[in-house]
Amino acid sequence: MAVKTKKKLKNEVDFSNVEIAFSGMSDADLRQAARLFKMMNKRWLVSTGSQLGLMAFKMRLPVNAIVEKTIFKHFCGGKTLLECQPTVDHLSEQNVLTILDYGAEGKKTEEAFNSTMRETMRAIRFANENNSVPVISTKITGLGRFEILEKVQKGIELTGAEKEEYIALFKRLNSICHVAHEHKVGLFIDAEESWIQDTIDYLARTMMERYNKKQAIVYNTFQLYRHDRLDFLKNSYEIARRKGYILGAKLVRGAYMEKENARAEEMAYASPIQRDKAATDKDYNEAIRFCIDRYEEIAFCNASHNEASAWYMLELIERNNLDKGHSHLNFCQLLGMSDHLSFNMAKAGYCVAKYVPYGPVRDVVPYLIRRARENSAVTGDMSRELGFIMQEIKRRRL
Ligand SMILES: Cc1cc2nc3c(=O)[nH]c(=O)nc-3n(C[C@H](O)[C@H](O)[C@H](O)COP(=O)(O)OP(=O)(O)OC[C@H]3O[C@@H](n4cnc5c(N)ncnc54)[C@H](O)[C@@H]3O)c2cc1C
Repeated sequence: MAVKTKKKLKNEVDFSNVEIAFSGMSDADLRQAARLFKMMNKRWLVSTGSQLGLMAFKMRLPVNAIVEKTIFKHFCGGKTLLECQPTVDHLSEQNVLTILDYGAEGKKTEEAFNSTMRETMRAIRFANENNSVPVISTKITGLGRFEILEKVQKGIELTGAEKEEYIALFKRLNSICHVAHEHKVGLFIDAEESWIQDTIDYLARTMMERYNKKQAIVYNTFQLYRHDRLDFLKNSYEIARRKGYILGAKLVRGAYMEKENARAEEMAYASPIQRDKAATDKDYNEAIRFCIDRYEEIAFCNASHNEASAWYMLELIERNNLDKGHSHLNFCQLLGMSDHLSFNMAKAGYCVAKYVPYGPVRDVVPYLIRRARENSAVTGDMSRELGFIMQEIKRRRL
C-alpha cells in the first residue's frame, strides 16, 4: 500500500519522515516490528490466534513467555511500573510524554477493584516523580462492577448490598482523583459501552467539579462515533463554565462500534453510532475545532491515529497563532502505533504523549487482541503501520 501524506506545514511537521518516526528503533527492533505486523496482517491468523490465545490463558498453559517477547513487548511498557521506566525515558529523549495505563479490565471482585485502585495511586506517585509522565489513565470498570453501572444508568433501584458496592466504587474513584489533585497529575477516565457511559459521565463530571477548579486534573472521554457526543461535549462545556471549572476532554472516535451496533440490532433500538465513517470524522474534527476555539477553558487531547485529524488540529493551532506547547493542546497515540505522527509532531515542538499500557501479561491480553484486530488488513493489503515500517527498512537498506 502506498502511504499518502500531505504537504509540509510551515512549522515543518512532515508525517512522511520515517527516519524521525523510527529513529528510536534499532535495526533489530525494526525487523521484529515488521515480522509482528506481517503476522497481524493475516486476518485468519489474528482471528484463530486470538481465540487460541485466550483459551491458552484460561487453561493456564505456559504462553506468557511467547506473548511477552512478541506482541506485549511491542505494545506495552512492561509488567510493572519499574519495568516501564526505560520506555518512559526512551520516549522522553524524543520529546514524547507518557500516559500510563494499568491494564485491568473485566474484573469482578472487590479485592480486584481495590488492588486496581492501589496500583493507580502508585502510578500517580510514579508520575509525580517523573516529569515526563503528566497523566495516568483509568477505566471505571476496573474500579467497580459493570452490572452496577448499568443498573444505575437504567434507574433500577439497587439492593442494599449493591448500594454499598456503588458507594465503594465512588470512594475508590474519589481517592484516586484526590491523590492526582494533590500531586498535580492528570487523570484520563476512559469511555466505554454506551449502556454504562451515562454513569461514567456522571462520575467524571462530579470529579471534574471537585478537582478542576484551578487546573485540569480529571478528563472525561468523548466518543465521536456516537451521533450525540458533539452536543454532549458542548453541553459539558456549558456546565463547566456555569460551575466554574476547567473541562478536561479526551477526544476519541470510539472502540466498541461492532458491539454497539450488534446490541442495538439484537435489542431493537436505534444504534447510537453515526450512520457512516464520514459522519464520525466530521464530528470528530468539529469537536477539535470547538475545543481549539475555547482552549483556555478546555484542556483537551486529540487521542487518535487519524492523520487528517492530526493535520486539522496542527493547521488550527498554526492559523490561530496559538502556543503549540500550551498544556491544553495535546496529541496522543498508543505505544507501538502511528509513530510517524507522534515523533514528527514531537520533534516540531507539539505536546505529544504515548499511551503506555502495563500490567501482568494475562491482564493485558484483551488490550493486545484489540490491537491485533485493529492492525489486521481488510483487503489483504499491507496495513498502514507495516507500510511505514517497510519504508524505513528500505531507507536503512536492511
Ligand atoms: C490514546 C488513545 C486513547 C483511547 N481511549 C479510548 C477510550 O477511552 N474509549 C474508546 O472507546 N476508545 C478509545 N480509543 C480508541 C479510539 O476510540 C479508536 O478506536 C481508535 O483510535 C481508532 O480511531 P482513530 O481516530 O485512531 O482513527 P480512524 O482509523 O480514522 O478511525 C477508526 C474509527 O472510526 C470509527 N468508525 C469506523 N467505521 C465507522 C462507521 N462505518 N461508522 C461510524 N464510525 C466508524 C470507529 O470509531 C473506528 O474505531 C483510544 C485511542 C487512543 C489513540
